[in-house]
Amino acid sequence: MKFKADEIASVIQKEIELFESQIDVREVGRVIEVGDGIARVYGLSGVMSNEMIEFPKSGVTGLAFNLEENSVGVILLGNYLGMAEGDEARTTGKLLQVPVGENLLGRVVDSLGNPLDGKGAIVTKDTRFVETPAPGIADRQPVRQSLQTGIKAIDAMTPIGRGQRELIIGDRKTGKTAICIDTILNQKNTGVKCFYVAIGQKESTIAGIIETLREHGALDYTTVVVAGASSAAPLQYIAPYAGCAMAEYFMYKGEHALVVYDDLSKQAVAYRQLSLLMRRPPGREAYPGDIFYCHSRLLERAAKLSDDLGGGSLTSLPIVETLEGEVSAYIPTNVISITDGQIYLQPDLFFRGQRPAMNIGISVSRVGGSAQVPAMKQVAGGLRLDLAAFRELEAFAQLGSDLDAATQSQLDRGYRMNELLKQGLGKPMHVTDQILVIYAGTRGFLDKFELSQISNWEPEFLDYIHTEKRDLWQKITDEKKLSDEIKSQIEAALSTFNSRFAKG
Ligand code: ATP
Ligand code: MG
Repeated sequence: MKFKADEIASVIQKEIELFESQIDVREVGRVIEVGDGIARVYGLSGVMSNEMIEFPKSGVTGLAFNLEENSVGVILLGNYLGMAEGDEARTTGKLLQVPVGENLLGRVVDSLGNPLDGKGAIVTKDTRFVETPAPGIADRQPVRQSLQTGIKAIDAMTPIGRGQRELIIGDRKTGKTAICIDTILNQKNTGVKCFYVAIGQKESTIAGIIETLREHGALDYTTVVVAGASSAAPLQYIAPYAGCAMAEYFMYKGEHALVVYDDLSKQAVAYRQLSLLMRRPPGREAYPGDIFYCHSRLLERAAKLSDDLGGGSLTSLPIVETLEGEVSAYIPTNVISITDGQIYLQPDLFFRGQRPAMNIGISVSRVGGSAQVPAMKQVAGGLRLDLAAFRELEAFAQLGSDLDAATQSQLDRGYRMNELLKQGLGKPMHVTDQILVIYAGTRGFLDKFELSQISNWEPEFLDYIHTEKRDLWQKITDEKKLSDEIKSQIEAALSTFNSRFAKG
């Protein structure tokens, strides 16, 4: 084929046009300032908010955080000590993503999904955006399956449903982490995938938690996302969104996931640090005005999806630390208003030995009740009110006044019930076991024993049930409801065992 000269020109021109349309346009800018985990970059006028920025010289990745008139504030997700003024910065056209999928289970990763456990690279074909919009109303359905924590006080009085957000709140060292770890242990053989996001915690504490999970065989279905106290603020800020994205993968696949954010107070502090460095105006308690949005857009991603979307669920257990029990501080009130209930842990109860140290009066679960096992609802229905009344009565009785017999017996019952609700670490209980012992407590089968006997009574009674009354146990587990027949069988078993126990 022969071309005329002007045709050659037009062909070349066309080729050039096509060629140009194939390359993706990237902008290149320069670092004008770097330090404290942030960089200010000049010359990226077309950058998107939350776009990943590359710094080829140091190999660091950043995230466009603050779009200003003449520059871009970038938070740095890596070791920025090698970066200098004048370094090149490039846009990537991509939003921040993390690897997701089955291969992340059993692994310890950082906020970007890089392995930290020395077990080699994580091979996954899927990734998800760290920030994604929460499912809308039409995509959801009410919570209807229970998520058993294995902790008597919680499953009986503030039951949690799959897809719920339940806040664990309390002062430091009141057993907040312990509750969440026990809940993860209790998900063994339930198919619920667990994600534990450690934010701003001591590395030694995190190592202990990983060890506990491993010992109990819970690491097989758990991913630990670590942004420890030594991690830079950007990584601590990103960690919960990354953990949420990893958990969401299972929800959108129609499976069930549980994610623990331990804790959001530290994430808020990291976000405040970044915002102040970016010179965003400080608001209440020096937090930026959008700190509420920071937590709401994270927690709104917990959901029970509609059946059309596979019916998967993502349950969130955010933890918030209070100072001196101050629940009306800024971050606690924010997160309380976003979640579907809170479990409030109190230091004085903790030190008195009432562990888990749950304040029953102000702990609530707003949606989990509809997901509670019916048999549990039957036995524990009035428990919350009874115990709250008991606490008041107890305070009154301390005045030393003479009590009538009815009040005294109400007090005795309350003391025994509180004793029964104590639970050690790493010992989540099967819901049927919980139902049986709470039945005994609320129906007065423990009244005749001394308080000090209760802690022995429980394991021995359960042992008796497991060995000699296996059929009854199985029946309660299968039927999930207490018919009159089952009730009389439970009472017969209790009477037989109690007379044996009383003899020692
Ligand atoms: P921090 O503020 O440091 O995060 P925290 O509120 O998460 O603390 P944990 O670390 O869970 O509290 O618990 C504090 C201590 O109390 C731990 O040493 C733990 O072993 C102990 N503890 C927690 N729950 C129980 C329990 N139910 N029975 C016995 N000991 C417990
Ligand atoms: Mg903790």
